[in-house]
Amino acid sequence: MESPQVKFTQLFINNEFVNSVSGKTFPTINPTTGEKICDIQEGDKADVDLAVKAARAAVKRGSPWRRMDACDRGLLMFKLADLIQRDADYIASLDTVDNGALFSTMKGCALNVVEVLRYFGGWADKIHGKTIPIKGDFFCYTRHEPVGVCGAIIPWNFPNEMMGWKLGPALCCGNTLVIKPAEQTPLSAIYMCSLIKEAGFPPGVVNLIPGFGPTAGAAISEHMDVDHVAFTGSTEIGRLIQQASGKSNLKRVSLEMGGKSPNIIFADADLDAAVEESHEAIFFNMGECCSAGSRTFVQEEIYDEFVKRSVERAKRRVVGNPFDSKTESGPQIDKAQLDKILGYVEIGKKEGAKLECGGKALGCNGYFMESTVFSNVTNEMRVAQEEIFGPVQLLIKFKSQEEVLEKANNVQYGLAGGVFTKDLDRALTVANSLDAGSIMVNNYSGGGANVPFGGYKMSGIGRDLGEDALVSYYEVKTVVVKVPVKNS
Ligand code: NAP
Ligand code: MG
Repeated sequence: MESPQVKFTQLFINNEFVNSVSGKTFPTINPTTGEKICDIQEGDKADVDLAVKAARAAVKRGSPWRRMDACDRGLLMFKLADLIQRDADYIASLDTVDNGALFSTMKGCALNVVEVLRYFGGWADKIHGKTIPIKGDFFCYTRHEPVGVCGAIIPWNFPNEMMGWKLGPALCCGNTLVIKPAEQTPLSAIYMCSLIKEAGFPPGVVNLIPGFGPTAGAAISEHMDVDHVAFTGSTEIGRLIQQASGKSNLKRVSLEMGGKSPNIIFADADLDAAVEESHEAIFFNMGECCSAGSRTFVQEEIYDEFVKRSVERAKRRVVGNPFDSKTESGPQIDKAQLDKILGYVEIGKKEGAKLECGGKALGCNGYFMESTVFSNVTNEMRVAQEEIFGPVQLLIKFKSQEEVLEKANNVQYGLAGGVFTKDLDRALTVANSLDAGSIMVNNYSGGGANVPFGGYKMSGIGRDLGEDALVSYYEVKTVVVKVPVKNS
């Protein structure tokens, strides 16, 4: 697979590709080479206003989208899924040049979007209320109505997939969207808008404003006519999004934010499997993964052996061209992220953790980083408490189940967790005791379109995916009807 030709670089409003009001552009960079791919139209507040107007008109009562039968809404989503499946290679290649992630990973993400759209498309005509037997001569029922205009602010680590996760539940419930992709990775989102038009969605249902967080992103989260904002990214910015809601129209807020997820290996675990899964848990997608198993707790009986094998595995990891099928890791997203990770390596060393391997940038034009392993880490260290978002494995020793549960939960985040053991009782006790939204037992990779995903504590509010995602995207209306008493 080669670098793709970029076909679209503009904003998408009312089913048309348009320039930004200011006419400003920004470059998007290929992190494998450090070179510019192309210039993208830069949206700002004025463009967000236009997009929100389009989205509002498209969702108002009586509009074609609002009047469309629910099953037809589902069919449009199936059509979009088919088009994304058709173009999955192209979409994946756009993301691979834009963010440096492996082509195979980005292809998997595009196919996940296909599943997500089919899953939520199937929900479209199954979202309905109840009849409620209230006291007196009344007929009481509830209706689930769209919330309205939904903002979506998405990150750069899984660009096409995050777009799909926001589209699915919002569209099946009959909402319209104004989406801002991350400044580093606008290409796949812009292209997917051309498929939204091709699928036949009415104008204004999906609008996209490429641009920057403090301008375009803030304009969405502060907007008085946006009813809901769904955000994926850092906890720091998630906090700003919720503040913006409080300061504007109290729009609903769904947040999927950072993590520092524990992955717990007991001495009785299948060691080969645990070493490999724990390696992938942190090194997958260059560590740029919110649910990464970024604190690996290993029981003392097997600690030294686990360190040895993890270091051997990390040294074997192939870092290079993300289009090459033999490559296991591409570059980090940008220079700032690479510098942040290298900064954490220094912090870890100063805190007394032992650098077993890696720790440096690979000197070249791209933003590549060695696969890095630290042993002798303690849970109190900054490297174990703060999200590094890079290829840095932290191995923490523990003695007992009680001790590890206390430490695993002693963190501000609560997105995911893993446990490796052959003891079923212990596996279930640990799964039930971790304060986190997704727990994986004897694996660190399971999930799917029908599986809720989201965080406890400062990792999030609300859920993406699965039936539990729907509740953020509909209002519940109660209707009470007086019924004349008859001889029935
Ligand atoms: P970020 O700043 O949280 O970016 C996420 C999205 O929010 C981007 O679209 C960003 O726009 C936007 N944004 C930024 N400031 C905003 C504001 N004031 N109002 C509204 N939207 C705003 O994340 P980042 O800077 O890319 O990465 C920093 C750290 O976040 C990473 O090191 C990692 O720890 C974490 N992160 C987590 C995830 C996750 O999946 N949970 C994903 C990415 C990053 P622009 O960036 O385009 O300006
Ligand atoms: Mg880029």
